[in-house]
Formats: sequence, structure tokens, C-alpha cells
Amino acid sequence: MSFSLPPAGGSRFAAAWSDLAPVGKDLRRGGYSRHAFDDAEMQLRQWFTEQSQRRGLEVENDRNGNIWAWWGEPGTGAVVTGSHLDSVPGGGAFDGPLGVVSALLAVDELRLRGVTPARPFAIACFMEEEGGRFGLPCMGCRLLTGAVDADQVRRLRDPDGLSVADAARRVGFDPATMGADPARLAGIGTFVELHVEQGRLLQNTDSTAVVGVGSEILAHGRWCITITGQGNHAGTTRPDDRKDPMIPAAAAVLAARRVITDFPGAVATVGRITPVPGGTNVIASSVQVWLDVRHESAPTTATIVDLIVAAVRVEAELEGCTLRVQRESMVDKVAFDPGLGLQLSELLAAPVIPTGAGHDAGVFSAHVPSAMLFVRNPSGISHSPDEHADTADCLVGVTALADVVEDLVR
Ligand SMILES: [Zn+2]
Repeated sequence: MSFSLPPAGGSRFAAAWSDLAPVGKDLRRGGYSRHAFDDAEMQLRQWFTEQSQRRGLEVENDRNGNIWAWWGEPGTGAVVTGSHLDSVPGGGAFDGPLGVVSALLAVDELRLRGVTPARPFAIACFMEEEGGRFGLPCMGCRLLTGAVDADQVRRLRDPDGLSVADAARRVGFDPATMGADPARLAGIGTFVELHVEQGRLLQNTDSTAVVGVGSEILAHGRWCITITGQGNHAGTTRPDDRKDPMIPAAAAVLAARRVITDFPGAVATVGRITPVPGGTNVIASSVQVWLDVRHESAPTTATIVDLIVAAVRVEAELEGCTLRVQRESMVDKVAFDPGLGLQLSELLAAPVIPTGAGHDAGVFSAHVPSAMLFVRNPSGISHSPDEHADTADCLVGVTALADVVEDLVR
């Protein structure tokens, strides 16, 4: 990786993007797989640290695996911007890193404008936002804000069975210090996260708008349904003698699509199924099915999950299988600070749009005035190697973020 800092915004963006381009490429899935404490994410942390230090920012790691780069002295009433460096498995290049790169370039832009913050200012990168390795999204900022129990987090395991505590220890973080960090949280005055849009609402709302301001995040959650049957031979076991957990698993997939038709605005997805042992000529002994459900209302989200689970239970009973449902996470609808949102949308002359995607800014909004800027994504595709934003739009995003920070650090 190079650590060049070319003079102009456009070439600085291109240089940053080419630094990041080779890190964590997923040759099997396409796109990127960058997860908390893995090699790719550690490389990105190093890149961010060096880029911040080149800009004279003071870099520190907090107790929860998040990185902070301070312009000037840390203190109370801080304006904080940033995002995350990790990705979903086989994710796009923009989700997360766009907010981090834009924050670094916004600092450059503010210096060109001769702005010196009158308030403490920091860029932050939050750990495991996607929950791609340990299953809990926004892990770093949930730990920081005390939204999740540190003991419970330390025990979470990745698909290889490695715990958060062990994974953190391997890369030099002390898991014992994880947990609520009220002093740090109290120091944040405002949090703004720039992010690639993960849909096409911006385009649908105002076809000329490049940047939008977030209004709210749908209620969303993740559930793991474990269906247990009887592992057996695919060739010699008659259909009547089978207890095949893949049958109720299939019912989960179909119910996820069918049930939401009664709830306008809802989405339900089965994006991950793991049969055990996972052999072509083997009837699985158990299957784990992960369900992601989102709707404006948390009670409706719960109802949708109940209806999907009921459909799975019917098939499980017919098949002689048992069922265990575990909620991995649930977040109520988040409305971003309306005053701050209005301030930013007026400043940028930008439309205000909601999103169905979860973000660190959503977790922070329960504690500090928080806002999001979304950069146009022409296809709307995200969490996919096909995720894209035009460079010209990303540079408009940098300018918008610089405008916002300039306004907030006065
Ligand atoms: Zn993201």
C-alpha cells in the first residue's frame, strides 16, 4: 500500500481508493470480505492510522476496538464524523470506507478553506458495524454506548468458533477492557456519518440530488432458527423415514417472502443457511437459518417473525424436527435528530430520506444528536460487489461533509 497524499481532492480520492482496492478482496464471493480483527480489517486500520497521522491527527484506539483520530485536543462537545472499515461477506467497496475516506478528505478541504475547528473534532472508525464475523451489527459502538453487555459480546463466536475475546487478543486488543465508555460518549456533541446510499430513494425523491440527509432507520433485527432432525443417508433413507431439517428451512425462505405481503413497507430475508454436516449425499442433521426482518414498527417486526416461525414450526412438526429460535439483535426504529437534520438539509439544499439499513449513527442517536449524509448510488445495489457510486458524486459528498463539519465546529 502507498500512503501518498496528492494535492487535489480528486486525485486524493483516487489515491485513497487505490490504496484500499486490494485489501480484503474476496476471490470466492467477489467484492470484499473485511471483518473485525481479521487481516484485511487490521490492514485498513493501519492505513487509516497512517493517513490520519500524515494529516497531523492524533490517533487513539478506544477500549472497544474503535479508532479515533483527533484534530486538536479531545474534549467535550466534540463533532465526530466517520463510519466503519468492515464489510459484509462479499460486500461492496463503498459501504463504510466511503464515510472514512470522505472524512479524511473533508479535513484536507477544511484546511484549504483555512478552517480551524473551535470545538474538538474527530474522525472515528467503528468496529464490526456489519456483524459479518460475530453476528452482532454495530458491535463497537454498541459496546461504547453500553447498548450491549460486554460479557455477552466477549463470548460471541465467529463461524470458525473463535470468540470475540480470543480474536481481539490475537491482534493485541485487551477484551477485558470492553464495555460502556460513558466518559467518551459524554464528550461527543454531534455525530455525522456519511454513507453510500443503499437504495434508490434519493434518485426517486429528487433526480438531481447527489447527497441526501437521513431522517430515520427502520426497526430491524436478526434471528437464528436452529432446526434439528436426524442426519442420514441420502440414498437409502425412504422419504417416510426422514427427519430432514432442510424441509422446514425451505419453509422459512418461502414464508419470509409470503408473510410480508400483508405488511406494506416490511422486508424479510433469509440470506444465510448452514446445514450440518453439509454433504451432497447426506440428509442434514441440523440446519441454521438466519432471518433478517425490517419494518417501521418494532411490534410489527416481531409479529412478522412470529408468523414466519409459525410456518417453519408446522413443517418441522410434520417432518419430526425440533426448533429453537434465538434473537441475535433487535433495534427499534431510529429517528435522527430532527433539528440537526433540518439544519443540514438547509445548509446543503439536500432532500431528507429514510433508510432500511442499520448504521452506527442509529446507535449513537439514542445518546447524542446524530445525522447521516447519503451519497447517490445509481443502481441502489449494496451489500454486493456491484455496489457503486460515481467518483464525481463521492467528491460532492466530500464537499458536503466539509460544509457540514465547518458549520458544526464553529
Ligand atoms: Zn455501512
